[in-house]
Parts: sequence; structure tokens; C-alpha cells
Amino acid sequence: MTSDGQSMSADVAVIGGGPVGLMSAIALAASGIETTLIAPPAQPDHRTTALLGGSVKALETLGVWPACRPHAAPLRKIRIIDDTARLLRAPEVCFAAAEIDLEAFGYNIENRHLLAALQARAAELELNHIAAAALSVKSGERDAVIAFAGGEARTRLVIGADGARSLCRAAAGIGLKRRDYPQAALTLNLSHARPHDDTSTEFHTESGPFTLVPLPGRRSSLVCVLAPETARRLAAMTDDALAKEIERRSHSLLGSMTVEEGRGFFPLAVETADALARNRIALVGEAAHVVPPIGAQGLNLGLRDGAAIAEIVTDARRQGLDLGAPSVLAGYEASRRADVLSRTVAVDLLNRSLLADFLPMQGMRGLSLFLVDRIGPLRRALMREGVMPAASQPRLMRGEMV
Ligand SMILES: Cc1cc2nc3c(=O)[nH]c(=O)nc-3n(C[C@H](O)[C@H](O)[C@H](O)COP(=O)(O)OP(=O)(O)OC[C@H]3O[C@@H](n4cnc5c(N)ncnc54)[C@H](O)[C@@H]3O)c2cc1C
Repeated sequence: MTSDGQSMSADVAVIGGGPVGLMSAIALAASGIETTLIAPPAQPDHRTTALLGGSVKALETLGVWPACRPHAAPLRKIRIIDDTARLLRAPEVCFAAAEIDLEAFGYNIENRHLLAALQARAAELELNHIAAAALSVKSGERDAVIAFAGGEARTRLVIGADGARSLCRAAAGIGLKRRDYPQAALTLNLSHARPHDDTSTEFHTESGPFTLVPLPGRRSSLVCVLAPETARRLAAMTDDALAKEIERRSHSLLGSMTVEEGRGFFPLAVETADALARNRIALVGEAAHVVPPIGAQGLNLGLRDGAAIAEIVTDARRQGLDLGAPSVLAGYEASRRADVLSRTVAVDLLNRSLLADFLPMQGMRGLSLFLVDRIGPLRRALMREGVMPAASQPRLMRGEMV
């Protein structure tokens, strides 16, 4: 820990101690890059994350997964139910990980456990951690200077993992495209009378998905996407009234429910940075892209950013390059652009197809799910692509160290 008011230097500074920042810093430090993490203490987060295959593999490779596993529930099946009252409804579709020879598509874990496991691994690696927020980042010809309360750090490269309101993005002079949806997500965890059988169930409703994702035991996390005023009304209910409302909306699939402490309310938007890197600053996670919580893409995408930048920086070090050189940043941009764009477009289309009152759009969605349900190879290709995108597999996601 260093915050003694002095100027210090490192090869790389990671700004932000969310899951993506911690993972990036651990990957860099584990491969021998002198790394400083600049991150104030984390805020409480009651959300959960469905970590897909590649993310789990990366956490295993970095030695983080053993501390996660006892708190994580396997997702062996994913069921999609059209719960709209529309004329053209899609058939119910159920995907099983066993169909593509996997034990599970991924694992669902509470963010607090994931963060605790990452923090413990960072401490084991004796990662240099400045427990303060970055106040400014100034990029120059030879290095970047980060100011924080009590000191400053000079580095070749800054990794901006500072979330959706990114100071790093602004400091790099990178703009942002944002589109707001007429939706908000209400999130909470709950226990229930019936077992979930390791199956995640997604009800597609006219206002967005209502998704129950398994947690260990007879517990699940809920992400309920609604019109903002409805989400607010539900969020203000008593525990008992809310439990009954959720049971009603889930058609008593998991029996009677008890809601746990900690409700989240997230207005939904899609955000994409105009560039992923510039001026000695590379953006990862929500500093670079925000996607709505549909299909468990956001953090999985962010972890692939972290794995990719760690790999590119490590390769640059082996070649004796300046770690923040334009060519290194261009390599990062090129390696991540297609994955970020394709995931953002796919989630956006899926969400808009749910919201659309336009009959041909509903027909298309129904037909797509029908085809996916009936055509085995298409179905299996889709499942594989969801778990391990063919276009973007940084080494860590394949189980190799950066
Ligand atoms: C309801 C909901 C459900 C979701 N479910 C899933 C899911 O199942 N699967 C999935 O893959 N994704 C999911 N996501 C997306 C996922 O939560 C995000 O992608 C993820 O939290 C982003 O992580 P991050 O580390 O990039 O950003 P954050 O978690 O926002 O972390 C950013 C960190 O930077 C710090 N920071 C900010 N400014 C500064 C500064 N100036 N100096 C230093 N530090 C700073 C903040 O304190 C924070 O700790 C969900 C999102 C929502 C809203």
C-alpha cells in the first residue's frame, strides 16, 4: 500500500477496482508487469453475475476460481419462455449444456463473493494498491501522470477500468454514444420453496426479460426488466408483497418466495465508447461499453477486455516496446472492436424485438426461436458461440497464462 504523498512510478496503472479492473491488474501482475491498482474501497453490490465458460476458465488460470466456486451455482440449462400475450408467440426453448458436452454453460455468483475472491488474489500477489480515487490523468509524450489524494503516479500505460462514468475515457478525449431504453432493471436475490434444478429461466415479457438465475441451494437472483415506473412501484413494495408479486410473475415456477435484503434499480441504456484506446489510456469493461443485462454479456465482455489488454501488454514487454505506444493501443483496439460491437448489437436487437409492437418483428423473433429449437447444428453453434465466442478468445479464456 502506497499513499504517502510521494510521487511513484510503475509500468501500468489500472484505475478502478470493480471486477474488470481487479482481473486486469491480477493478470498483469501475475505475468511480471509492474502494476499499480488505483481504486477506492468498493461500494456494496447486491447483484450477481452469470460467468460464462471463458470467464470461468480465465479466473481458474489466474488462481481466483477456487475462492469463487463454493459460492457459485452451475447453469446447466437455460430455458426461454415467451410470456407475452401477443398474437405471434415464440415456442418455449430449453438449451442444455450437455448438448455441447459441457457440464455447465457457466456459473452464477454474487458480485460480493467475486470481488472478495479477486481482492484476496490481488493481496496474495502483493499488488501495489493505492486505496484512493484518481483525480486526474494527464497523458504526455513519454508517460501518463495520475493524480490522487496524497500523491501522483507516473506510468507508461493507464488502464481505465473506472466504470460507466469513466474519468479515464474523458481524459483520453474519447467520446461516447448512448441510447436510453424505456426500461429499468429491478434486481434482488431470493430463496424459494422448490429447487431450480440448475436451470436459469428467462420469461420474455412485453416490457423486457424477467430472469431467475440459480444461486447455491434453493436461492436465485432476479433481474426483472420493466417500464421504469413499474420497476419503481415494485421496488417500493414490502418484502412480503414483492415476494408474492414475483411468484405471480414467475407463474409459481419455484413455489413460494422470500426476498433477501438489498434491491437494485438500474435504468437501462446501451453505451459504446468511440474508441477503446488513445493517448496512453486503454478502456476496459463499462468504461468502454455498457449493455443491458440481457443474456449475461456485460461483465463477460469486460473480462475479455481485461484478458486481451494483459496479453497485448505482456507481448509488448517481451518485444521491448513502450507499453503505451500508439501501436500497442492500436493492437488492443483491433483485437476487441468486433467482439464489443457484435455483442452490443445482438443484445440491442434482442431487447428491441421484445419491446416492438410491430407484428413482423414479433414474427421474426418467434421464427428465430423456432428454428433454434428445431435445427440441432444451429442450436449447438449458437450455444457454443454464447459460451466461447469464436472471434475473441484471449489466451486466458483458453486456460493459458498471458
Ligand atoms: C442488473 C444488472 C445485472 C447484470 N448481470 C450480469 C450478468 O449476469 N453477467 C454479466 O456478464 N454482466 C452482468 N451485468 C453487467 C456487469 O454488472 C457489468 O458489466 C460490470 O459490473 C462492469 O464491471 P466494471 O469493473 O467494468 O465496472 P464497475 O463494476 O462499475 O467498477 C468500476 C469501479 O471503478 C471505480 N472508480 C470509478 N471512478 C474512479 C476513479 N476516478 N478512480 C478510481 N476508481 C474509480 C468504482 O468505484 C468501481 O469500483 C449486469 C448489469 C446489471 C445492471
